[in-house]
Amino acid sequence: MKTVIEPFRIKSVEPIRMTTQEERRELIRAAKFNLFGLHSDDVLIDLLTDSGTGAMSVGQWAAMMRGDESYAGSPSFYRFEAAVKNLMPFRHVIPTHQGRAAEAILFSIFGGAGRNIPSNTHFDTTRGNIEASGAEAYDLVIDEGLDPQSPYPFKGNMNLERLEVFLVEHGDSVPCVMLTITNNAGGGQPVSLENIRATAALARRHDKPFFIDGCRFAENAWFIKQREPDQANRSIPDIVRDCFAEADGMTMSAKKDAFGNIGGWLALNDDGLAEQARSHLLRTEGFPTYGGLAGRDLEALAQGLAEIVDEDYLRYRIQTNTYIIDRLDALDVPVVKPAGGHAVFIDARKWLGHIPPLAYPGQALAVALYELGGIRGCEIGTVMFGAHPDGSESPAAMDLVRLAFPRRTYTQSHADYLIEVFAELAKRKDSLTGYRITEQPRLLRHFTCAFEPL
Ligand SMILES: *Cc1c(COP(=O)(O)O)cnc(C)c1O
Repeated sequence: MKTVIEPFRIKSVEPIRMTTQEERRELIRAAKFNLFGLHSDDVLIDLLTDSGTGAMSVGQWAAMMRGDESYAGSPSFYRFEAAVKNLMPFRHVIPTHQGRAAEAILFSIFGGAGRNIPSNTHFDTTRGNIEASGAEAYDLVIDEGLDPQSPYPFKGNMNLERLEVFLVEHGDSVPCVMLTITNNAGGGQPVSLENIRATAALARRHDKPFFIDGCRFAENAWFIKQREPDQANRSIPDIVRDCFAEADGMTMSAKKDAFGNIGGWLALNDDGLAEQARSHLLRTEGFPTYGGLAGRDLEALAQGLAEIVDEDYLRYRIQTNTYIIDRLDALDVPVVKPAGGHAVFIDARKWLGHIPPLAYPGQALAVALYELGGIRGCEIGTVMFGAHPDGSESPAAMDLVRLAFPRRTYTQSHADYLIEVFAELAKRKDSLTGYRITEQPRLLRHFTCAFEPL
């Protein structure tokens, strides 16, 4: 059979509150045209993020019942730790309430004025944590990763020549090398096992610790299995272990590929760094056997890690994107190809060519999708990345709109509706206008800034 079915059935449902276009026009205006400002029950299909929005399984709900809330030494922590080490065999696993808490701890050690930290592409919270520490964040993804139309299978790969030059040039000011798998900010595009190994080898040669931002490790492993020579017959857990065997540590948002509604961790091998990290953890998150989490959260994550590497799940997960991308492509909507892991990315700069980057074509498209169809996506472009610490602004490398799919949450009819909304929007896209920002904070402005249509 060619149809890839959702590999689950539904035991418990959340009703969607229907709204009209007129209502939504008022609601988005009241939210100052920032989609983060909407109430989520005013959204029909919420594709703002795949972070913490997935549906938990019966196995996870059952596991939560045995969550042990002991302050120290809870068996729930040891089950969580064993589940992490089963896939990512680091010596120290430090639970945090989210990925960004793990980043804040890591860059309290590796950050600071004068430091320079390279990655394929830093995610926004990673960049935010690095810059808040006074250090500078650099994105060194391969050129194909910046070309939405390139069919290259591993567009998240690190540009090894640029990294080599970077390491030579910046020398002692580089505290570590990072790599984000999959490359969220660059379109959810995967990094090959070969590139992970080569990046690790380069970091090692320059005596730099190598850290993986592993938020979507299972999706990345699925792509390695599908697209990389000699990997097709290997199990997902084996591929995952190979990826992390190369690293000195990792940061993780368990709200992504651990099926959690909350959670994260920092894992590393070095005993001295782990001690520094744990003392920071004690001050900001909690005792090392619970971090920022309840025992029941740790149980849900331990079970989630066992489920996320299931091939039937991963096949369905990636097929959702392929299904939508093929149909948007047929409507001449420019999408990032090939399909990434967690989301479909629309090239708003190209589709809305009449709106210049500094008038935020991604924001214009995201607002239009909400007004017309009640769909909430997220601008990943000049709003998110265009502002610099010195207060200046320049166009980001791309202006994308990300439609991120919560895990196991929506069905194929939601995808069909989304495609219909795009077909309708295609008829009136030339009348959309750009936006200007009227208020913004200094860091991570996209979450709270206010807009006005031009
Ligand atoms: C979500 C995410 C983070 C941050 O994790 P939170 O749990 O949201 O704090 C970091 N890196 C990447 C690649 C992410 O997708």
